Amino acid sequence: MHLAGLDLHPDDIDTLICTHFDVDHAGYHDAFTQAELVVQRSHYELAKSGHPRYAAARAHWDHPALRYRLVDGDTELLSGLTLIETSGHAPGHQSILLHLPQTGPVLLVIDAVAMQRLFTPERKAWPMDDNEEQLQASTRKLISLVEHEEVSLTIFGHDGQQWQTLKTAPQYYE
Ligand SMILES: [Zn+2]
Repeated sequence: MHLAGLDLHPDDIDTLICTHFDVDHAGYHDAFTQAELVVQRSHYELAKSGHPRYAAARAHWDHPALRYRLVDGDTELLSGLTLIETSGHAPGHQSILLHLPQTGPVLLVIDAVAMQRLFTPERKAWPMDDNEEQLQASTRKLISLVEHEEVSLTIFGHDGQQWQTLKTAPQYYE
């Protein structure tokens, strides 16, 4: 895993922000038994109620040793780190706005907008998306954040082209 490249172990991690529980985003949650896992309450409760979409990774995100902190809507988690509620791809999906000293504001939209070319107000939903109206509303919310916060880097969830341009561990953004 990437943590090993940084000389870290999952036990060294205090806080794990969960965007949503799709299998490609929640498959290692059960390794982080020493962390506080932060997720939107609406997403957690939907998954916990047995929604079939989140069953694939349930053994990982619903492991009894995990400790969750449930948040409701946009939440400043730490100074300079804000969770942004961005439903649409999934109910209660969350994105992350992070202020870094050198890089400036970084917006991790993740699966709210999986690829740069979808980052437009009138975008259409894909089959994996839950709700087109919410998806568009969340996309507009993120577009306006980029403007108002003067975001210097927006990171998309599944943009292979962008990925090649990003610093990846053990490199990092300061
Ligand atoms: Zn994804």
